[in-house]
Amino acid sequence: MNKTNRDDKTSNRLTRGDFLARAGGAVLAPFALAGCRSGQATAQRHRWKGRKDSNVKRWDVITIGNLSRNRYWGESDARALRAAICTCTLISGDGFRVLVDPSLADEAEMATELDRRTGVKPDQITTVFITHEHGDHLAGVAHFPKATWLAAPDVAEIINRSKRLPRAVEDAPGRLFDALDVIPTPGHTETHHGLHFDCDGLSIVVAGDAVPTQDFFGERRGYYNAVDFERSARTMDALAAKADIIVPGHDNYFLTDCLG
Ligand SMILES: [Zn+2]
Repeated sequence: MNKTNRDDKTSNRLTRGDFLARAGGAVLAPFALAGCRSGQATAQRHRWKGRKDSNVKRWDVITIGNLSRNRYWGESDARALRAAICTCTLISGDGFRVLVDPSLADEAEMATELDRRTGVKPDQITTVFITHEHGDHLAGVAHFPKATWLAAPDVAEIINRSKRLPRAVEDAPGRLFDALDVIPTPGHTETHHGLHFDCDGLSIVVAGDAVPTQDFFGERRGYYNAVDFERSARTMDALAAKADIIVPGHDNYFLTDCLG
């Protein structure tokens, strides 16, 4: 950042990356370090995995998802106890606003949450990206008719075959806006894909249901409806190596370090 352009009001303002780097360092340092599985990271030695020169300028969680049943809350996998909402994330840069997994079936509620978190209006979303074909991750897609709807080709094929959306989802290329990589994250479903990007020097993966919540990630456990639990675990291992931050499918985002 060019310091000569800062005024008094903004001179002490931290970017999210600065904040997380400092907060993460503080968390990883002395007392909490004992809880880290690796026990190796320290504030001094910690290295974030992302690049600073990314085309992604910011990212925001629009809705924090929840599961219909959560074994880490002492609940049985046998039946739904509440309606599930997925985590919906907006990733923005010059010329693009990518909304991942629009989560709310009610059009007005979707617009309200987008506005509450970012001030962005539905018509300003350029692109919707869908991680996988489960209904809770498709719930709000139709509320963005002006956006391009993208999913990894195998996911797009499944969604389009089901005819659950008013128009076809298009095949996503491997990289979007020279900023976002579409990465295979199999296990929850065979064809599940997430998005990886860098922002403020941090490496971030919007993981969809490849990582249901932080607790599931900590134990490398797939959600009860995963098609392949072993592949789910391997995918989470790969994401742990790749990401500083994971945005899970049904929880708030978290730092990977103490769960690595
Ligand atoms: Zn799912």
